[in-house]
Amino acid sequence: ETAEINTLLLSRIRDVPDYPEPGVMFKDITPLLADPVAFAALTGALADLSVRCGATKVVGLEARGFILGAPVALRAGLGFIPVRKAGKLPGATLSQVYDLEYGSAEIEVHAEDLAVGDRVMVIDDVLATGGTAEASLRLIRRAGAEVAGVAVLMELGFLGGRERLVPALDGAPLEAL
Ligand code: AMP
Repeated sequence: ETAEINTLLLSRIRDVPDYPEPGVMFKDITPLLADPVAFAALTGALADLSVRCGATKVVGLEARGFILGAPVALRAGLGFIPVRKAGKLPGATLSQVYDLEYGSAEIEVHAEDLAVGDRVMVIDDVLATGGTAEASLRLIRRAGAEVAGVAVLMELGFLGGRERLVPALDGAPLEAL
């Protein structure tokens, strides 16, 4: 059954060469989102993982982590918390700067959304270099919460995201469907 789901999910991911810039193979999940069977299978699998990891909250990473994370949170019976690019959240925030290949980026979370005692599952579509996910783990821990795990639809293994993320996970699982 897992093999069938994985075949279905894979068939609904479109490879777009040289987007958004030359040399990048963009993994487009919009065909998957447009297929209700595939979308339900994906969010169901991610929700099961979140429950198995003992999560009490779901964090979604902007922007496709919002599309996946919100239904995952609902299906798992958990609250959803957006981690946004800097400057988008109106309340008091914690922010984290991280390095990109060229330059840097910054993400934020509402400070009041996470607290001591929370166990947080991080959801996104693609793990590439792992920089964004690693920065989100720092935010979660700085808020006093624990990391339950990270779950993504796919991992681009050749970019080394897993190697970067595992030391920051402190034993929590990294699952790529
Ligand atoms: P990174 O911080 O390098 O792991 O990049 C993660 C973010 O960039 C994720 O939120 C992905 O949605 C997006 N991303 C990076 N590379 C790709 C790719 N080849 N196709 C689709 N999305 C990507």
